[in-house]
Parts: sequence; structure tokens; C-alpha cells
Amino acid sequence: MQLKSVQYDKPHFSHAGQCGIGEAWARIPPELDRAQRLRTTERIRALLHERDAVLVAHYYVDGELQDLARDTGGCVGDSLEMARFGAQHQASTLIVAGVRFMGETAKILSPEKRVLMPDDDASCSLDLGCPADEFSAFCDAHPDRTVVVYANTSAAVKARADWVVTSSVGQDIVAHLHACGEKILWAPDRHLGAHIQRQTGADMLLWHGSCLVHDEFKADELAAMALEYPQAAILVHPESPAAVVAQADVVGSTTQLINAAGRLPTDTFIVATDQGILHDMRMRYPGKTFLPAPTAGQGATCKSCAMCPWMAMNSLQGVELALEQGLCAIEVDPAIAQAARRPIERMLAFAAGHRQPVRASGDLARDAALFQHFGPA
Ligand code: SF4
Repeated sequence: MQLKSVQYDKPHFSHAGQCGIGEAWARIPPELDRAQRLRTTERIRALLHERDAVLVAHYYVDGELQDLARDTGGCVGDSLEMARFGAQHQASTLIVAGVRFMGETAKILSPEKRVLMPDDDASCSLDLGCPADEFSAFCDAHPDRTVVVYANTSAAVKARADWVVTSSVGQDIVAHLHACGEKILWAPDRHLGAHIQRQTGADMLLWHGSCLVHDEFKADELAAMALEYPQAAILVHPESPAAVVAQADVVGSTTQLINAAGRLPTDTFIVATDQGILHDMRMRYPGKTFLPAPTAGQGATCKSCAMCPWMAMNSLQGVELALEQGLCAIEVDPAIAQAARRPIERMLAFAAGHRQPVRASGDLARDAALFQHFGPA
């Protein structure tokens, strides 16, 4: 099976109004001292109640934000779980701690709700590397292909897609389309696309984007670390390069990696994804040891950063300000939102009906009823 590719490797960081890597690092809010954290946390609890709001957080944001989301009846999850939770929750305001495409997805699925973010400039290298106009021209050049885009894209890119997928369900959806005889145009993460192609044998044409964090994991250094910790299991997110994925005991989305850490009898894990996930893993499995996979080459003094600067822009202060002043409200052009909603709902319907639930919450029957009228592309 042929793997075709195109060269779109340089993210377009200069687009007006977009926050590139350097600016993101510079805008990470300062750490609060203990007294400030307590005061801010208490204020957020009160504001969530007053504003009829719920906090929906990604596994990659600061641990305190994750704890606060859990403690206040919100959700900590991967992007698929965040989308489903926000759509189903009764609150009239969703405060999304993550990156912009997550806020947009929440708004697309819940247009009647107010969606706020701690910082709506928090972006993603995959989103920035896939401008809607260039992507649309790419689709026009390949009209024979079913367009499958990763959730880490703008609403305008999603609006051009037949399917939106997350890393939880992407492989299953492509396998389904391949079995139906469809050829795939995939965007934007080239590593995830190539991994899915290897697993499914599908005919895939890949956009050449990458995640700034996962692209940095180093295969040789990972192999050396595995020799140092021979009992450790290696958990890898599929946005990582192929030579890193090839060393994995488990390849999966953030939720699938967390579940694997609980399921496997091993005590020690080397984890190749954003280090924000370690907070959740250590909380769930306190008797186990989790080590970040190396992102730096031989001779480097720091062995791993594995931290997304856009995720790090989310802070307690940002949540407080957004709730207090209604800042960073997400709006999506209604025509784009309507077009983007259909491929997102296709994914949710597929996930709801799939044999392996992506969220062991008891919500699947409700999801299936909600989205049963959406069929395949
Ligand atoms: S970790 Fe990677 S994929 Fe996730 S938001 Fe950051 S740049 Fe995007």
C-alpha cells in the first residue's frame, strides 16, 4: 500500500492574530504563591456557581487546573471527552482550559452556550500549520478522496472535512473507511497519519504538520533509557515519530495511555507525551513511577521538556478573569460552525457505537441516542 505525502512542513506562525511558539512561551503566566492560589481557587469555585459555569480541562494543562475541574464537577479528559462532556452538561457557560480548537469545538457543539477560555490565543502547532485556505485548495486538488482531519484544527478546516477524528478513534474510523473502499486525504499530523496508515493499510495522502511537543521525542535516547529501566513499559502517543512509536509497549491517546498505566502489571513507565499527563497518572496510580521520555539529544543538560507552551498559557488567574469579566469568549462564524458540526458529530456517533468505549462513564447509550441519525461520509 502506497503512502503518499506532500510538503507542508512549515507552520505558518506569521498569520495575523495568531500566537506563535515564542510568544506563547513569553505569555505563560507567573506562578502564584500558596496564599494567592488558595484565594484564586476559592474565588473560582464561587464564580463557577454564580455564573452557572463548568470547567472542562485537558490532561496537558496545569495540575491545579485539572484538580479544580474534578473537584467542582467538571471534566478532565482528552479532546474527544471534553467535546462530549461540554455538549451534554447542563451548565450555560463552559470554561475550556486547553487550546483554541477545543474552545471552538465546544462552541460548535453547543452554540447556545457561552464558551470562555483562560486565554483564547492558546493555539497548537498543528492548527497553525494548516491554514484553511491552503488546506481547501489541497482538498480541491484531490476530489476523489475522503477528507479526514484531526481535531487539532481550526473550525474552518473542520468545515472542509468529511470526518473529524481524535487520536482515540482516528484509527478505527480510517479502518472503517478503508473497508468501505475509500481513499483518504489526512491532515494535519503526519506522524499520526503515518501510524494509522501502517496500522490500517489505507491509501492515505498526508498533510505534513506536526505537534511541537511529540515531534521532539528522540528514538536513540529512548532506547538508552529503556536499557536503564529494563522493567519499564513504554507508553507513546502516536503524534510521535515512527522510530519512537516502534519502541512502544502501548500506543494510544492520552486516555488510552492513562488506562494502560492502570491495566499493566508494571510498576515503572516511560511516557512519551506532554508531561501534563503525569499529574493525572501519579494521582490515579500513586504506587507506580512515571518517567518522561527524553526529548533532548546526547550531551544536553536537560533531558526532557515535553511541555506545550500553548497549554501552559492556561492558568488559575486566566480562569478567574474569564469568569469574572467574560473575557476570551469563543465565537465561530455560524456558517462555518454549521459545516464543521457535521463531521464532528459523525465522529461522536461513531465513537458512541464503537465496540471500545472511549470513556467508561455510562454515557454511551445516551450518546448513541443523540447521534444515531448521523451516518458515514
Ligand atoms: S501538545 Fe502538540 S498537539 Fe497538543 S496542543 Fe500542544 S502543539 Fe498542539
